[in-house]
Amino acid sequence: MKPQTVNTPSPHIEVPPHPQWPMLSPAEREALREHIKQLMRERDAVLVAHYYVDGELQSLAEETGGCVADSLEMARFGARSDARTLVVCGVRFMGETAKILNPEKTVLMPDLGATCSLDEGCPAEAFSAFCDQHPDRTVVVYANTSAEVKARADWTVTSGIALDIVRHLHERGEKILWAPDKHLGRYVQRQTGADILLWDGSCVVHEEFKGFALERLRRLHPEAAVLVHPESPDEVVSQADVVGSTTALIKAVKELPNEEFIVATDDGIFWKMQQAAPGKKLISAPTAGEGATCESCAHCPWMAMNALHNLETALREGRGEIHIDEAVRQRAVVSIQRMLDFAERRG
Ligand code: SF4
Repeated sequence: MKPQTVNTPSPHIEVPPHPQWPMLSPAEREALREHIKQLMRERDAVLVAHYYVDGELQSLAEETGGCVADSLEMARFGARSDARTLVVCGVRFMGETAKILNPEKTVLMPDLGATCSLDEGCPAEAFSAFCDQHPDRTVVVYANTSAEVKARADWTVTSGIALDIVRHLHERGEKILWAPDKHLGRYVQRQTGADILLWDGSCVVHEEFKGFALERLRRLHPEAAVLVHPESPDEVVSQADVVGSTTALIKAVKELPNEEFIVATDDGIFWKMQQAAPGKKLISAPTAGEGATCESCAHCPWMAMNALHNLETALREGRGEIHIDEAVRQRAVVSIQRMLDFAERRG
C-alpha cells in the first residue's frame, strides 16, 4: 500500500541565519561555565539537552547530572527528575513537552524563538481542519509539533518509537493520519504496510541531504557505513546501512565494526558519536552545501540558537519560560502519555 500525501497548506517558513556568538578565551569560557553551574544550584535546575545542540552544552549537561538524549528520552528524563527547574537546550516543542509533562515545574529555554520547520509547517488550526475531514483515522503526530497539535492527536511519537507504535495500530486494523514529516511518514509506511495519510511537511535540514551526491561520496569511501535519520528524503534513506533515531545512529557508530561513517543527520550529533566511539571517522552526508545557505550546512539553525551565553541569561533572569494553556496541556498530555506508557511496556 502506498501512503497518500495530501497537499496541506504550507505556510512560508522563515529560516533564521545561524547566530554568531562572541568568541570566549578559555578562561572566560571556564568562568561562564562555573557561573552557570552556580545559577543552576540556586534555581535547583537541571539541563536537558538534545544531541543536536552545541557540544559545549552537551558536556555541561552531563557534568551537572542532566541528560543528553533524543526527544523521547528528554521527555522521560524530565518526568523522572526531582529538580524544580528544567532547562531545555533544544527547540521549542521539546520545552513544551517538558512543561506538558511537568506542569508544576518551571521550564526555561535559552531562546524561545528556537523553533522547528516541522512545527512551523503544521499550524494547529489547519491541522485540526485536516483531522476533521478524516474522522475515521487515528491521528499520530511526530513530537516536532506544537502543544496545540499534540492536543488534537491520539498519539504523539518520536522517531525512536514511531515504527513500533504504527505497527501496533496497524495490527489493530486502524488507519492513520500522520503529521507533519512526510519523509518519516513514508518510511514508517514502507516498514509497516499501514494505511497512512500524510501531512505535507518536512525538515529543512534533513531535506537538504542529496541522494546523487551521496552516491559519489560512497564511491570515495567504500568502507564507510551510511547512517541516515528517517526525516531524510527517500533517495538518501534507500542508500542507508542503518536508518534510525539519533539514539539508534549513535549506537550504530559504537557497535558496527566500520572505521568510517557517512552520517545524514544534524552534525551536532558528532559530539556524542565521537564520545561513544573515539577514533572513528565521521563524515557529514552531502547537502546542497555549495550553495551555502543556512539550510544546507547539516546543522539546524534553530538548534544553533542554544549557547552558553543565553543559557546564562535564562538562568540569571528566569527568561525564556514556557507557559501552556491548561486546557491545551490537559489534552496534549494524553497523546504524549500514551507514547510513554507504550515505551514503558516495550522496555
Ligand atoms: S533538525 Fe529539522 S526536525 Fe530537527 S529541530 Fe531542526 S528543523 Fe526541526
